[in-house]
Amino acid sequence: MSSEYFTGANNPRLSIRDSGRDEHRTLNPLDRQKIYARDKGKCQVCGKDLELFEIQIGHKKAWPSDEKTIVQNSVVLCYKHYRVQGNLSLLELKEKLGFSGEKEKKKKKR
Ligand SMILES: [Zn+2]
Repeated sequence: MSSEYFTGANNPRLSIRDSGRDEHRTLNPLDRQKIYARDKGKCQVCGKDLELFEIQIGHKKAWPSDEKTIVQNSVVLCYKHYRVQGNLSLLELKEKLGFSGEKEKKKKKR
């Protein structure tokens, strides 16, 4: 195997925003693990238990102004909820999907 494949991939200072507002930001594996551990391996929308390899990284706020906040702003999501997040904040996403967090008062009745 050629090691050239990895050239640049282990640069910890790899640009996070090299393609503007691309949601596929660069998190190194350690950051992923940190986020996974902090969020206890659960989707922050539905609470589903996830394995490290299957987590998706969503965001609390749509676009943090400071790149240093990137880990703090990142949250574990399952694939399903990652796909629907778009540029909603975590809170907006939960509200949209009916996961209004602690309060269950917002149940829709018809
Ligand atoms: Zn979920």
